[in-house]
Parts: sequence; C-alpha cells; structure tokens
Amino acid sequence: LDRQMFQMEKLTTLGELAMGLAHEIGNPLAGMKAVAQAMQYEEDIPPDLIEALKRMESEIDRLSGFLRSFHGFAAPQAIQPEACKLELILEDVLFWTRKDARSQGIDFTLSGFGDLPPVAADPHQLKQVFLNLLVNAVHAMPSGGTVSLHAATKGKCACIDIRDTGVGMSVETQSRIFEPFFTTRREGTGLGLAIVRKIIEQHGGSIEVASQPGHGTCFTLTWPFAWR
Ligand code: ADP
Repeated sequence: LDRQMFQMEKLTTLGELAMGLAHEIGNPLAGMKAVAQAMQYEEDIPPDLIEALKRMESEIDRLSGFLRSFHGFAAPQAIQPEACKLELILEDVLFWTRKDARSQGIDFTLSGFGDLPPVAADPHQLKQVFLNLLVNAVHAMPSGGTVSLHAATKGKCACIDIRDTGVGMSVETQSRIFEPFFTTRREGTGLGLAIVRKIIEQHGGSIEVASQPGHGTCFTLTWPFAWR
C-alpha cells in the first residue's frame, strides 16, 4: 500500500510536470527539427554533415515521441465514452502494426470478437491500449511468432486475452512492468504499460499478466460493457 501511495503522489506531480515539459521542451524541439531539416537542403553541405543532421533529426523525433507519451500518461485526459465495437478498433490498430510485424515473421489471429457486444470506451484511448500491448508483443518476438487475441463475455464485462509467443518475463520483471519508467529495453520509455493500466482503470476495467520466460506472455483485459 505504501508503494501505491507513493506512486499516486508521484503521478500528481508528474501531471503538472508533463504539461510544463510539453511546452518548454516540445516547442524548441520543433524549431530545432525545422532547422536541421532545412540545413540538409543548403548548397555545398558536406555529406558527413548531412549524415549528422539526419541523426540529429531522428534523435529529435525520439525526444518528441517520449514527450508525447509522457504527456499522454501524466496529464489528465478527459474520457468521452462511446459504444465501441472491439473488432473495429482492433482492425484499425492492426492496420498500423501489421506491416512492420509481417516483415518480422509475426502473425495475428482474432477469435470471439464477432459476436461480442460493444464496450463503453473512449475510442482513442482504447486504441492506445491495444496499440501499446501489440507493439510490446512485437518487440518480444524478434524472431517471429504469433499474437492471438481472444474475446469472451464474462458477466458485465468483455474479457480479452492478448497472448504472444515471445521471450516472456521473469516474476521479478512481471511485478514491475506497470511502474512508470520501468523498462528492460534500451530504446524503451517504460511508459507503455503505465499508460495502458491508467486508461483501463479509468474505464473501470482491470488488467492482469501471466508469463513464462522463453515461452510467452498473456495479458488479460477485463473491460465493462456499460459506462459506470
Ligand atoms: P517499454 O516498452 O518502453 O519498455 P512498457 O511499459 O510498454 O515500456 O513495458 C515495460 C517492460 O515490460 C518492457 O521493457 C518489457 O520488459 C516488459 N514487457 C512488456 N510487454 C511484454 C511482452 N509482451 N513480453 C515480454 N516482456 C514485455
């Protein structure tokens, strides 16, 4: 409980910090990117400088991406619930994830979504949840595999399993994955699952993880059909 309280406090401060950072760092970054881009088209620029400017641009993109996730996580987001068909939401998310995943030898299978009633959710936030979970699944399968998504009705909730055949996680890792900034990836921000859990809980749902190192991971989402 102490740890939870500590995290709650951290979040309020983070919310204020996130809004400040988005402006104070986000705007100058956008300016720097514009300059880095424009300089590449100047005459007589040596090739190694062009290379350096391209690197600078991609580092700026990475920083901006981080700021966006951080803001999305820490700043309060109003929920505008609608009746969302999970199948349509997933179709949209898979459209973006599939392309990269195919070239990596990853397949997606869906079952049980067709006859599921719609859930009450903010569609943008619901998309964000699936996007983060699917991107993580893809990261966990560097040499290919399968992501199986299965939906079923459980009382007043939709129960959705997202199962991958990836690297899995130790018990120690599992206990920390929802903490903001916890990551095991060199390029990671550690905000993906913190955002996922926050959105799900704001909608009155819950998320659980089961994983076996070397075999894969299954996230189970419980999402209410009706808005509270
Ligand atoms: P990030 O992806 O930036 O590291 P996340 O919050 O999305 O941040 O994930 C935190 C950590 O949880 C990851 O670094 C990874 O160790 C672990 N993780 C998340 N999803 C999976 C998965 N499907 N399989 C294995 N490990 C995972």
